Amino acid sequence: MSLLSLDGVTLKFGGVTAVNNLSMAVEEGQVFALVGPNGAGKSTVFNMISRFYRPVSGSITFDGHNLLNHKAHEIANFGIARTFQNIELFEMATVLQNLLVGRHRHRRSTLVEQMLFAGRVRQEEREHRHAVEEVIDFLDLQPYRDTRIAGLPYGVRKVVELARALSTKPRLLLLDEPASGLSVEETQDMRWWIDDIRRQMGITVLMVEHDMGLVSKVCDRVLALADGAKLAEGTPAEVQAHPAVIEAYLGT
Ligand code: ADP
Ligand code: MG
Repeated sequence: MSLLSLDGVTLKFGGVTAVNNLSMAVEEGQVFALVGPNGAGKSTVFNMISRFYRPVSGSITFDGHNLLNHKAHEIANFGIARTFQNIELFEMATVLQNLLVGRHRHRRSTLVEQMLFAGRVRQEEREHRHAVEEVIDFLDLQPYRDTRIAGLPYGVRKVVELARALSTKPRLLLLDEPASGLSVEETQDMRWWIDDIRRQMGITVLMVEHDMGLVSKVCDRVLALADGAKLAEGTPAEVQAHPAVIEAYLGT
């Protein structure tokens, strides 16, 4: 069974078919890329998996659960985390604070439970702290730990955005354009982070990315979308050589 599968998924915004009868399957341990020109429907696919949008038809299954039966806030509990194309961090809070807030969205206990089981809550608090500190170490963010987001260069913010998603210890990580706006060196670093996330943390990654250089280095499998529909799927080399993909990219 695939970790994540979409079957015949369609989503429309008024008259625009943003995603058209799309089927795809991501296997556990893979790094899978969605590529395609602007407006192809890539972010919309992420928004359906994270349940911000509901497809008009088709099904989305994660680890045997039908995601369409669940609300957006429940998706994280299944072990799905995401980053956003436009970084979504609290500007005036520090790196550490942003990551702790990210973790708190995943806390297991309710307020009543917190009052009844204060000891267990302190234990959970320690677990949160530990998970966050681990990710800060893992992504070499110690030098920025107590710096406010507003004072950080863009490249570091992208890593913090990644850290926020990782600190929830997901099984599936959705990365929306992890390299956009990064320099050549920063993109190279992002490549190593994604490799390490897969190899050392054992996390499956589904990413949207324009940088085909990065995609061919880091991904096992690529699906090219255009106008919401699948153009081609295969290894990075197969997809890049596919005539329909070349045509879509050259806009001829
Ligand atoms: P990509 O991420 O591949 O650039 P999107 O998924 O953002 O593409 O968009 C796919 C299509 O859906 C585009 O035509 C876009 O204009 C449209 N679209 C996306 N989000 C919305 C929305 N919230 N309301 C209306 N149209 C949208
Ligand atoms: Mg997008």
